[in-house]
Amino acid sequence: MIKEIMGESNMPSIVNEIHPKAIVIATQNEKKRKEIIEILKNVPGILLRGVEDFPFLPKVEEDGNSFRENAIKKATILAKSCNALAMADDSGLEIDALNGRPGIYSSRYAGPNATDEKNIEKVLSELRGVPKEKRTARFLCSIALASPHQLLFVAEGRCEGFITEQPRGKGGFGYDPIFYVPDYNQTFAELNPLIKNSISHRGLALKQFKEQIIPLIQRF
Ligand code: IMP
Repeated sequence: MIKEIMGESNMPSIVNEIHPKAIVIATQNEKKRKEIIEILKNVPGILLRGVEDFPFLPKVEEDGNSFRENAIKKATILAKSCNALAMADDSGLEIDALNGRPGIYSSRYAGPNATDEKNIEKVLSELRGVPKEKRTARFLCSIALASPHQLLFVAEGRCEGFITEQPRGKGGFGYDPIFYVPDYNQTFAELNPLIKNSISHRGLALKQFKEQIIPLIQRF
């Protein structure tokens, strides 16, 4: 089974020397990594390690046309580079009144080194004058798992909401303060993180990821 998943390789894997079922998580974002580890912590038998533990790994450019393409690209390149299982996610915010922007440019919407505050400012200024009912938006997330020889699967999640007129709340990161969830009458930045994790695009994609990885790891 191990050969079926990992392929035949004589290349040593520094990652699997640490743990035979280690999975490298391809994200530099500390908060995202914590969310991922929190949700996957009781998947039996795997060890999650961040890319920062392997400084020799290449930096992958996110130049795909969709979250899915970017997640697949990152996971497959990293799995090959470290000769181990790798998971990667790509996510962002899609706003209907902006024809889907910021989309795949979410993290750099106001420029290459934009802060969360600058990205939020840009979105709010582009939405000035747009009435509440037309401020519909969604967070989307794709998470890919790859072995050194193949893409194993992609899990996806989405969370629907509205863009507020002003930032609200201090929690979370990114666009959380302007993403309003009607069922809770709160923005992502106001929501209890446990609730956010249970309804968010990433939380839902990770739930699906967990359901698919458990049988795979058991056979592994
Ligand atoms: P990624 O790290 O390339 O996936 O970039 C995703 C970007 O989308 C982040 O930098 C945030 O700006 C935004 N984003 C993704 N998920 C969330 C979330 O849960 N809350 C707020 N912003 C998010």
